[in-house]
Amino acid sequence: MAFSDLIGQNGIKKTLAAAVSERQSGTFMFEGPLGSGRHTFAEEFAKALMCDDPGENGACGKCNCCKYYDAGTTPDVVRVYKPSDSKNVKVSYIKETIVPEAILRPQFSKTKVFIIDCDYLGAESQNALLKSLEEPPRHVVFILLSSNRDVVLDTVLSRATEIKIEPYTKDEILEILKKNVPDCPEQTALIAADNCGGVPGKAITIAKQGEDIDLKRKVAEMFLEIPEASYCKILNDISDFMNDHKADAVAVATDILLLIDDVMRLKGIPDCKKITFTEQRLKLEKLAASPKTDMVRLGKCVAAVKEFLRALDVNANYDAASCAMLLKIHEELK
Ligand SMILES: [Zn+2]
Repeated sequence: MAFSDLIGQNGIKKTLAAAVSERQSGTFMFEGPLGSGRHTFAEEFAKALMCDDPGENGACGKCNCCKYYDAGTTPDVVRVYKPSDSKNVKVSYIKETIVPEAILRPQFSKTKVFIIDCDYLGAESQNALLKSLEEPPRHVVFILLSSNRDVVLDTVLSRATEIKIEPYTKDEILEILKKNVPDCPEQTALIAADNCGGVPGKAITIAKQGEDIDLKRKVAEMFLEIPEASYCKILNDISDFMNDHKADAVAVATDILLLIDDVMRLKGIPDCKKITFTEQRLKLEKLAASPKTDMVRLGKCVAAVKEFLRALDVNANYDAASCAMLLKIHEELK
């Protein structure tokens, strides 16, 4: 891989290429939400820093350092990620392993790189690291990662070159999906791109979750019941369905969006071939043909599902959010 193989973030690629060519040491902090590609950029940057013959596009991919890197055998990259046995990295590990390790020279490359996920570093651990960040040996680069700069100490931030990962454009997300979820149907990819907030990892999750056929059938059945259902049925049976599928909430919401999208398509072009839920075509056609189902109402249903997805993002009360969505859809389609 080279910088140009990574999609989007052109400003960051230029910054990294410049840092590599000047062989800058010191501390860099990649900030962006989970799934934004922080790790991918950090790894590519680390590889370029270690490469014997890096260019504008990052690592050469051919030298011995690159080969060791690709094989995962280079001793000159140290990664500090979430520990398997506790919530945060232990302070003693930073003090007794990482700090002394930073003093030692690299074994094969000119640079030694530490990739440290600050999301799993408490204040005490960050403090323990400060001295190394303050006076880094010339051969050391620290790449820090953070999904929330508010929990990073100011003293750490002030020593780092901050690199903020910006939301990706819709086209970039679609390109990333094509690479990572090649079998994803076009409509699902579009829904994923529209609802991921510019975060590729989230788009990939939505696109992958959208593939559960059995779940799709159940969601379609539930959705098609909503217009005819009584309030009581919505607040009991249908709401229970949402609760039973809490773990798949994003997939369920995605399928509802795809179902509404199908109804919109059938409303515009009754013999439209491009619908996702072909098995339920007759019922969807019937819903689309109803004079009460107009584009404005369908648009409001879409807004209700998006509101539900936002509520999931901020960990709002699941029950309340799913009931609000169901009642809104019922209100518009009854
Ligand atoms: Zn190389």
